[in-house]
Order: sequence, then structure tokens, then C-alpha cells
Amino acid sequence: MTYEIINGWIVGKLPGPNGDLIPVKHFPQGPYERRQRNNPLLCLHTTETDGYVEDLRFPTEFQVGEDVIGQHRPLWARGAAVDEHDHDLLQIEIVGFSKLDRWLPKPSSLPPLVALMALLHRRGFVVTALRRPTRWPVPLDRLPAAVDTYYRRLEVWDHAFVYGHVEIPGDEHWDPGSLDHPALFSIVRDVLAPKEVDGEMLSDNQLEGIQFANGMRRYLDSPDNEPAEPGPHRQGFRFAERITTHIEGEPPPAAFEPSRSPTEGMQLSPDEKHPGREEEEETQSRGGSEGSSD
Ligand SMILES: [Zn+2]
Repeated sequence: MTYEIINGWIVGKLPGPNGDLIPVKHFPQGPYERRQRNNPLLCLHTTETDGYVEDLRFPTEFQVGEDVIGQHRPLWARGAAVDEHDHDLLQIEIVGFSKLDRWLPKPSSLPPLVALMALLHRRGFVVTALRRPTRWPVPLDRLPAAVDTYYRRLEVWDHAFVYGHVEIPGDEHWDPGSLDHPALFSIVRDVLAPKEVDGEMLSDNQLEGIQFANGMRRYLDSPDNEPAEPGPHRQGFRFAERITTHIEGEPPPAAFEPSRSPTEGMQLSPDEKHPGREEEEETQSRGGSEGSSD
């Protein structure tokens, strides 16, 4: 494993589809207010931009796109992208455009989204990243959707499901449109599947436990040889160090805030936007003229 979580900030890289490692970048956007709910629901948005939005007008905790997972707020702090329910949610902006036709994010946004959802689900940072009400069709139906009377707003709020902005009561937006959740969940499940290690099927949580234990053993064998890479290995090393030497150890985690990450190689866009009734109508008429209504 290749990451640590320090005061709610993910530092390092997260495993994504096909064993790829996705870097986590930091774009801190305070002030931070502790989320009132301990087990938030995952809520997905789209930026309605081509590129990454370094400074979100309405910050979410995370943004995925341009081949990176961007973290704008620590895991314990609420976002500010919906009207009434920020305290109930952990929110992700997906770089891309919502569609009324079934869609999946583009190749520079999908792997970071999958890697982040897998971590959030596995570590319990959200109630679930893998369930939707089965009776809801993938395409948004019974339009208009960008209105507070939309049927999905009240049917299951709030239960253990993945939500889109379109399904949050008290809002007038329809992102992320007809995002293909079943296809997305199946890619996340692949990342979460137990892996064979030395003839045993082990989950990622078990693998991290083994690495943590190895880190403790490494301290006992060679206390001056701290692992350079963040991850459970180094966390185990530092844990053993604290136990055996009773030192105060690391600076208090509350003092930690990551510095802003460089954006070299990333396409950047100005303000994100959450599409409302007008955009829904435009998209509808575009879809109609092309003869695709699904
Ligand atoms: Zn939104």
C-alpha cells in the first residue's frame, strides 16, 4: 500500500483499476467545518468543464479528473456543494459533463473516481460506494429532474445508497445525470476483490494489516531505518517506535495541512457548475434531435 491518512488528508497513491496507482493531489480549500454526521452518504457531481477546477466555487471534499484524485478538504470536514445536506454527505466532483443518455466518465476521470470510491467504501468513510435503489432505471426518467419535486428526491432519502446531486432534497440540479452506476460499481468491485497472496485469498484490509505488522518488526530489527514511502509499513514502524521509546513522537496531527500540489501536465478549467433546469432542457432537445432518447 502506498498511502497514509494524516488528519483526514490522504497522502500518497491509491490503487485503481488494472493495478494502476492513482496519485492524490491536494488543493486545500478551507475553512473546514467538522461534518455533523459520522457515516456520510456518498454524493457525486459533475464539474461541467473539460479540465480540472483548481479552486472550486462550491468546494467538495474531492474532485477526480486529469488522472488525479484531488482532495480539497479533509475527510472529516463537510463540503459545500449542495443547499441543505452538506453535513450528510461526502461529495466528489467528476471532471466531465452530465448526460441524459447513459454515460461513464472519460478515461482521465474514471480510474481516479474508481480508486477513490474503493477506498471510501473499504475504510468506511462513506456508508456505501456500491449500492443504488434497484428499482431506479439507470437513465433519468420521468423528467424534468432538476426540480425539487423530482420523484427520486424523496423516495429513499436517506438510506444506505450512493446519491447524485439530482437526488438530494432541496436542490435544483440534475448532475450526474444518467451516470451508469451498475457499470461503475462493477469496476469498483474488481478493485476491492480479494487477491491471491502466497496461496491465500486476502482482502486489502488484511494486506495492510500484514504490512503494518512488518513495519513494527522492521523497527525492532533496525530502528534507524524508517521506510521512506508513506503507507501501513511506515505507520507500523512509527507505531512500534512510539510504544518502545515513549517519545512524544510525531507532531500532533491537527497541525497537518498539506501544501498545494503542482498542476503541471493538468488541463485546468474555470468555475465548475451544477447544471439546472435550463441545461436539462437544452440537453433534452439536443438528445431529441439526434434521435436518442435513452
Ligand atoms: Zn452538483
